[in-house]
Amino acid sequence: MILIFLGPPGSGKGTQAKVLAEKFGVPHISLGDILRDEVKRATEIGKRAKDFMAAGRLVPDELTIELADKRISQADCRPGFIFDGFPRSAAQADALDGMFKQKNLTIDRVIYFNVSEEETVKRLLMRAGIEGRADDNAASIRTRFEVYEKTTRPLIEHYAKMGKLLEIDAARSIEAIGRDLAKI
Ligand code: ADP
Repeated sequence: MILIFLGPPGSGKGTQAKVLAEKFGVPHISLGDILRDEVKRATEIGKRAKDFMAAGRLVPDELTIELADKRISQADCRPGFIFDGFPRSAAQADALDGMFKQKNLTIDRVIYFNVSEEETVKRLLMRAGIEGRADDNAASIRTRFEVYEKTTRPLIEHYAKMGKLLEIDAARSIEAIGRDLAKI
């Protein structure tokens, strides 16, 4: 089972990916988590990624593509995986198509978490108070939305054309969305 979760920041992708990955017994691969770990360990990639992340901009494609490729090549990904926050640009989507072809993998579904900016900003500001993430401040949130609209949103069309897209109404409660996803 290979799933890709696509949607704006704060749409609840990460929360649902975690639950579903556990249910299917496959890894939940959050590029944001992988990058935050690189930053914490002050690796070369982490040092290069840090300022982009704090500003709410995309980390350069070559870094995320390399990290994603490495991660899905690990043995625990053989039964499948859920990608959360990858791909986020046309270059990443193309690289992913290439990787999958080479590894003989196919995407089962791309789940698009559809929710308004107004609702997600509310959630992100609330999370800022709880988790204290460096990029959950008003300026960075605004940039993340701009990046999403301009660079990530076009992927919806890309996957719709491939016949892979499944849209869910992500403005509802965690439980209601979880019930829909459990039917996959
Ligand atoms: P959110 O979806 O709320 O923005 P994430 O944890 O998914 O949170 O991502 C946090 C940050 O990590 C992004 O703003 C970006 O800087 C970086 N990032 C995550 N995934 C990618 C990606 N696929 N390509 C480039 N940068 C990424």
